[in-house]
Amino acid sequence: MEKLKIVLVSSEVAPFAKTGGLADVAGSLPLALKGLGCDIKVFLPYYRQAKKQDFGIKLFKKNIITKVGSEDINFSLYHCEKENVDFYFIEKDDYYDRDFLYGTSTSDYPDNAMRFAFFASAVLSSIVAMNFKPDVIHCNDWQTALIPFDLRNRLQNVKVFKNTHTLFTIHNLAYQGLFARDVAYQLGIGDEFFTPDTLEFYGKLSFMKSGILYSDAVSTVSRGYSHEILTPEFGCGLDGLLNIRRNDLYGIVNGVNYSDWDPKIDKNIKANYDETNLGDKAKCKKDLLSLAKLKSSLEAPLLGVITRLAEQKGIDIIADSIEEIIGFGCNLVILGMGDEKYHNLLTELSKKYPKNIAVKIGFDNVLAHKIEAGCDMFLMPSRFEPCGLNQMYSLKYGTIPIVRAVGGLDDTITDYTQNKREGNGFKFNQANKDDFMNAFKRALSTYKNKKEWEKLVLKVMGLDFSWEQSAKEYTRVYKTIMKVEKVESCCIS
Ligand code: ADP
Repeated sequence: MEKLKIVLVSSEVAPFAKTGGLADVAGSLPLALKGLGCDIKVFLPYYRQAKKQDFGIKLFKKNIITKVGSEDINFSLYHCEKENVDFYFIEKDDYYDRDFLYGTSTSDYPDNAMRFAFFASAVLSSIVAMNFKPDVIHCNDWQTALIPFDLRNRLQNVKVFKNTHTLFTIHNLAYQGLFARDVAYQLGIGDEFFTPDTLEFYGKLSFMKSGILYSDAVSTVSRGYSHEILTPEFGCGLDGLLNIRRNDLYGIVNGVNYSDWDPKIDKNIKANYDETNLGDKAKCKKDLLSLAKLKSSLEAPLLGVITRLAEQKGIDIIADSIEEIIGFGCNLVILGMGDEKYHNLLTELSKKYPKNIAVKIGFDNVLAHKIEAGCDMFLMPSRFEPCGLNQMYSLKYGTIPIVRAVGGLDDTITDYTQNKREGNGFKFNQANKDDFMNAFKRALSTYKNKKEWEKLVLKVMGLDFSWEQSAKEYTRVYKTIMKVEKVESCCIS
């Protein structure tokens, strides 16, 4: 069979522009797909974040025109190559040359519907301009969700798309791209597509529904989450629709790009280490403590948190537990950015306990690596978690994760107390302080037994969560929707 021709479209791609895990996935899955022999092109908006850095991005094509609603919009396409993968950047400065990707800490940008409807449309026009004939366009999250709609309802007769199929991956169902009805008119989406069976969602226009309804298959980023989103508890109002599509629903766990996240080669950390020189992890801890201005002994457990500051992440559970955690002689380093209410909450806590809690509000990739390397434990008390990447990064850095048993966290972490042989972290069930503290105390009592802790640390560092297996699963799903192979949906029981 010929090479699979894949276009992957994402609103953020590491290292060019990132707010969270989507960027890591969109930056690393294509490299793994390339390794499996796919012809892969990646598209993203040309944000200020990418323009400011030196990635060797060059103009590829000027004056491409795309239509959004009744408007013809002119844009340029930029390009760079990284590890033999082609990355294409849609340039439109009035949409993407901004301080942030989606909005500020208090509100989303008011023109997000237009920014991402344009993005979807511009990607399709770029593919036409390049005369590329993709087998599959792999869309990710609501920002790309109008692509399946356009292919199904507007561009079905365009030659290059004659044999093109779509996969829509949900990285987080809670962000749906919901907009006022007027926006539908502005985007040229007529009344026939504003019904409960189409794009209407409680009186609003839903981009997410477009991805779920009009793509050939839907996937999400862990098996656990693919089952959870079929229930009212996690379905965010779309569980009914997802159940209709359950035969085409797949759960493929994200992988880790170990070229970026491995303490043996990580250029961001004080000292490189692996299982053979674990002692050097202590140098990273010392460095982090001094950076965070925490005057703690090296023996005291250091707990790390790196997260988008959103309701989802259980920040309130950490905040509620913090006094007790400190009471056990532990210290915390927290890095995060997001909702203003959490900015304030965490800043206040760090002011109240300056000797024990260091908080940095902001996005800081270098510090994120230092936290992974310098901490003993990593906290992820998420209310829901489609996959979660930091728990897997933590394992590689010998930083033991304490996680809520939900979504991808439940899939990737096995509780050490219950299963010492397989255990790679500590898990709790309910999203509340008591359950969380229970897991924390179990971790702490293991930590106090130095030999046992070191054995656990060495074991988890050797675990492999690389992309290889998951990338293979993606190629099988691509082939299934192209009807050249058949993989059963994970939701057929
Ligand atoms: P989500 O995608 O829900 O934000 P994930 O755990 O899947 O959560 O991925 C988060 C990714 O973003 C990780 O690579 C993490 O290190 C990174 N990250 C999150 N917040 C920050 C921050 N404030 N500074 C630097 N990196 C961050």
